[in-house]
Amino acid sequence: MNSELYLDANATSPVLPAAIEAATAAMHTCFGNPSSSHAAGLRAKALLDATRATARRVLGAASGRVMFTSGATEGIQTAVLSALCALRERRARGEASGDLLLYGATEHKAVPESLAHWNRLLGLGLELRALPVGRDGRHRLDALRELAPRAAFVCTMAANNETGVVSDLDGIAAVLNETASPALWMVDCVQALGKLPLQLDRTRIDYAPFSGHKLYAPKGIGLLYVREGAPYTPLMCGGGQEAGQRSGTENMSGIAALGAVLHALETGGAFRSHGQLLALRDRLAGALREAFPGLVFNAPLEQTLPTTLNFSVPGVSSKELLDVFDAAGVRVSAGSACSAAKAAPSYVLDAMGVAGDCSASAVRLSFGPLADDAFIDAACERILRCGRALLGARPPARLQQLESFGASGWLLFDDAGTECIAIDPPAALAPRIAADLRARCCRLLACFDTSHGAGGADALAELMDMTPGWPGQGAGIALGDDLLVQRGDAFLFGRAQDGVLESDQVRFVFGASSVDSAANAALYCHRIGEPAVSRSGVEALPDDGIDLDAVSAAAYLEAHPDALLVDVREIPEHTAGAARLHGRAAHHVPLSQLAGQAAQWLDQPRPLVFVCRSGNRSARAARTLRRLGHAQCWHVAGGLALASV
Ligand code: PLP
Repeated sequence: MNSELYLDANATSPVLPAAIEAATAAMHTCFGNPSSSHAAGLRAKALLDATRATARRVLGAASGRVMFTSGATEGIQTAVLSALCALRERRARGEASGDLLLYGATEHKAVPESLAHWNRLLGLGLELRALPVGRDGRHRLDALRELAPRAAFVCTMAANNETGVVSDLDGIAAVLNETASPALWMVDCVQALGKLPLQLDRTRIDYAPFSGHKLYAPKGIGLLYVREGAPYTPLMCGGGQEAGQRSGTENMSGIAALGAVLHALETGGAFRSHGQLLALRDRLAGALREAFPGLVFNAPLEQTLPTTLNFSVPGVSSKELLDVFDAAGVRVSAGSACSAAKAAPSYVLDAMGVAGDCSASAVRLSFGPLADDAFIDAACERILRCGRALLGARPPARLQQLESFGASGWLLFDDAGTECIAIDPPAALAPRIAADLRARCCRLLACFDTSHGAGGADALAELMDMTPGWPGQGAGIALGDDLLVQRGDAFLFGRAQDGVLESDQVRFVFGASSVDSAANAALYCHRIGEPAVSRSGVEALPDDGIDLDAVSAAAYLEAHPDALLVDVREIPEHTAGAARLHGRAAHHVPLSQLAGQAAQWLDQPRPLVFVCRSGNRSARAARTLRRLGHAQCWHVAGGLALASV
């Protein structure tokens, strides 16, 4: 396996060794409660005070409140609650205040969600309004100027977590100051710490939340700055810790760790300077351009953090890119970590007006200011490897499954991969298929939808300059020595003898509405759903018990030397990093080619253990084989991600 190169620092960062040491030392020697008056408590209190003093110097916040929180979401919550309580009091006193809660359209979800939550809970009924950003990702100052007189509270981040776009805070402050009674102002500074200069005292920012885990401190520790005189309402009440501003016994190990990071920032030397980071990023950007011709950066590099690159490779989905990067041991993400599980297009890129195809292929690469030349050298080398893996030649497969949003289509190739037939191709994949066939100099003989088809054949046919639909010859379409013929609503494919396809030679059936209408040995290829293939006359075996965790997979492989370990990741992932498990190299059959391979495993059964990146595709492969009647197939739950730890 490849060693891991972590390039997802905007999601979270590793922990600075000095921070780990400081946290451990705090647990050993400063485990006391800083509110206790005995020596153990006083030692903890001294650490707390010293860390706050360092934070004040690093943030340029000699005045105002600086308190420890559990992270930025809590800081945002506290700021929103404070501002909204103040607005409610103003209203109760009959004082004028705006009616808009204004937030940047690209803010982290913690901001609009907190605004909506507290607005509802406090019964304020204020209007939430997203402040638009331009194509460059920066807040539109003209829109702000128009809305500012109505704004009661304004939230604009210092730098965006997905794109790295740095906000024009001076410009925003100037516009806010144009109004007679300026709104309260929160600036989410999470991505700015350690990457942009901060002098909070010199700004008119009212609230600034920070999060430790974005800059080499552990999760669960953060800071909130509140300008002197800005309204404040505690979110948590109880024992009166943090001078009554935030109750709850302090997270001393987290505070000690954050203190070590702040100390490193203050003393300098540990972290790269802005200029050095820019030079490192330029090298990464160069490697990306070389690896993926046609690549576009989704935000202007001169206006983004020196540690973030958000890019798209037209025609290649984020998922494909992430899979290849992951296979090469490079950890990047498609957008914010909080949205990663939702597989939705990026609202940040949408707000910037980035075209849908670029947004669907966006990848974020981010690193921390500890990065050095050796790390960037290794990252550039891996990026180039990923490019070669993704764009390199693909060996042709006889039967290739095409999948898009749950719909399956099929490509049938001749042995040499020079001729092909497309059946039910998903429309969304048409440009990709067309480009791929052209690159392989492969002739598309026919392109049609079966009675289950969703009309994707038209899109592909148009791109390939041909007429869609079953050509309708009585004898069918010859593909090398094979033949595809129509029988009712089904299309049968197999080896032809004297130009005729006999039932016992049928290998695949497409578009059939039932699975008992044709040859027994054939695999029925479905257009939607799972399994992608089934067999008539075979009793599907239940798929309970197909999961093997990493330990039981190792034991199983050891006890069954005849078992075949099969990597079902796609070709570029396999090329970027071949799979090994417990010293065994995996045989490679991409999931998209499983249907073509399955018959062989059914004819000569042997135990099969499927593996993929995270366990989803391998589970599908094992379920498919069980439903085809193969009793001895399993998969590695959690995939290579867990098995290789
Ligand atoms: N704001 C921004 C810009 C972020 O990137 C994040 C984390 O992704 C947050 C807020 C939330 O921070 P935390 O995880 O500390 O609650």
